Amino acid sequence: MMAINFDPVRLRRTLHQHPELSNQEAQSARAIAAQLRQFGFHPVTDVGGHGILVTIQGAAPGPTTLLRADFDALPIHERTQLDYASCHDGVMHACGHDGHTAALLAVAAELSQTPPKQGTVILAFQPAEETGEGAARMCQAPELANAQIDNVYAFHNLPGFAQHQIVVRPSTFACASTGVAIKLHGKTSHAAYPERGVSPACAMSDVMRMLTQLPDAYPSTFSLVTLVHAQLGDPAFGVAPGEATVMATLRSDDNATFHAMQTRLVDKVNAIADQAGLTVDLHWHEPFIAAENSTTHNQVVVNAAQSLGLEVHWLNEPMRWSEDVAEFLTRWPGALFGIGSGEHHPQLHNPDYDFPDAILSTANDLFCALVKRHHGMAPSPVAE
Ligand SMILES: [Zn+2]
Ligand SMILES: [Zn+2]
Repeated sequence: MMAINFDPVRLRRTLHQHPELSNQEAQSARAIAAQLRQFGFHPVTDVGGHGILVTIQGAAPGPTTLLRADFDALPIHERTQLDYASCHDGVMHACGHDGHTAALLAVAAELSQTPPKQGTVILAFQPAEETGEGAARMCQAPELANAQIDNVYAFHNLPGFAQHQIVVRPSTFACASTGVAIKLHGKTSHAAYPERGVSPACAMSDVMRMLTQLPDAYPSTFSLVTLVHAQLGDPAFGVAPGEATVMATLRSDDNATFHAMQTRLVDKVNAIADQAGLTVDLHWHEPFIAAENSTTHNQVVVNAAQSLGLEVHWLNEPMRWSEDVAEFLTRWPGALFGIGSGEHHPQLHNPDYDFPDAILSTANDLFCALVKRHHGMAPSPVAE
C-alpha cells in the first residue's frame, strides 16, 4: 500500500493564507482537487460553482454517506500576527472553513488507504456557504440531484465551547434566516404642504411595529425578527418624505414557521401600504433554511463521539445563526454537529479568529468513526 504523506495543518494554513470570497474560490478549489488527485482519487470539479465531489466505493453494496465541508472566506480584514495570515487584503478565513476542508481532506487521505468495506462514501467540498448559495447549487447539480443518500454529516467549529467537545442537537441545529428589505414609495411635497404629497412616515412606523410583533404569532417555536436599518426621506427640513426603507432579519428554528412568517410579513406590508396609498418593493436577501437534524443520525454522532472518549454537549436551543448544509439535510437525513474551538477562542467572523488546528484530528477521527459505523471501514492507525 502506498503511504500517504499528508499534513492537514500545513494544507489548512495554505488555504488560510489564500482566502477567497464566496463564488470566487477557484484557486482553493484547484488546491483541493490537486490534493485529492494525489490521494489517487478522481474528483469531479465545478459542481454547482467551484464545488468538488469524490465518490469512494466499497467492495460490497451498502448505504451511501455524504460528508460535507465548506471552503469560502469572508470580506473581513484579518488582524492576526500569524505568519500564514491572509495575503488577500480584506478577505479572511474568519469562519474556519479552511479547517473544515482540511479535516475532510484528512478523511480522504485515510479513506484512500482504508476504503469503506461496503456502500459508498461521497466527500463534498462546498463553495459559497457564507452567502447561502453553494449547498443548494451543489444539491441541484446533475451529480447529486437524483442521488440516493442515506446519511449526511458535517461539522462547524464552535468558539465558546471547550476544545474537542462535540456539540449536538437531535432536532434543529441552526436556524433558518433571511434578510428582508422593504421600500415604501409615496410622493414628496413641500414640507409646508404635506397633504400635497404621500408621506410613508406613518406606514413605516406601522411596518416596524408589525415586524417586531411578527414572532408573537408563533409562540410554540423560536422565532426572531431584528430590525437592522430604517430610513425616512432625506435630512431636508423643506421636504415632506416620499420614500422609506426598513430592513430586518428574520429567524426561526422551524422551516414551516419560517415560511409562514414570510407569507404573513408580505401580506401585512401590502395591507399597510395599500391603506396609505403607497407602493412597495420587497426583496429577500441571503435566505437560509433551518438545519434540521435527524434524531437517529444525531445519536450516531453521539455514539461515535463517546466511542472515541470525546465529551458530548447537548444544546438546549438551536444556534441562532444559519448554515446552508441545511440544503443537504432537507433532502437527505443526517446531522450537523459542532466541535468546540475553545471556551476563550475568538468568535467566528472576528478579525482575530483563526481555526484551531488542534481539533483537526478530532474532526478527522469522528468522521472516520461515522464512516466505520455505516460502512465497516477497517480502522487504520493514524500516521504521525
Ligand atoms: Zn461564517
Ligand atoms: Zn461557517
